Amino acid sequence: MLTWKDVINFSVKGNPTPDKRVEKTEDEWKEILTPEQFRITRQKGTEPPHSGALCSIYDEGQYNCVCCNTPLFDSTIKFSSGTGWPSFTQPIKSNAIKYERDTAYGMVRVEVMCNTCDAHLGHVFPDGPEPSGLRYCINSESMVLEK
Ligand SMILES: [Zn+2]
Repeated sequence: MLTWKDVINFSVKGNPTPDKRVEKTEDEWKEILTPEQFRITRQKGTEPPHSGALCSIYDEGQYNCVCCNTPLFDSTIKFSSGTGWPSFTQPIKSNAIKYERDTAYGMVRVEVMCNTCDAHLGHVFPDGPEPSGLRYCINSESMVLEK
């Protein structure tokens, strides 16, 4: 199980190696994504809180990257954080997610990305429920739920 210490280590010392890589040009991503998906995943955008289709859905299944279809999270680790974004306590696999220090907007946060295709997903915070204490705060538009 990953903890905040692991997250900080990844963001400082380097990320785990993904099972595979998917790389495309900006135009190729535009062809397969909606404008909103493109803005969020490829340009590090954020959807307004409580707007995402997956925010209040708790169906069983697996949450895959909207860009490359790699499994990122599982419905069993989704929880209701009240923030307005889908929230998880762990990735589906420790090498599914990539972590980077983000100092935008005068804050120090940890950005989370798909480790396979570098899609921006959201951020991770150390205020999640036990036992991991992690809260992955993810844009709905970055994921597809495979039931
Ligand atoms: Zn991806």
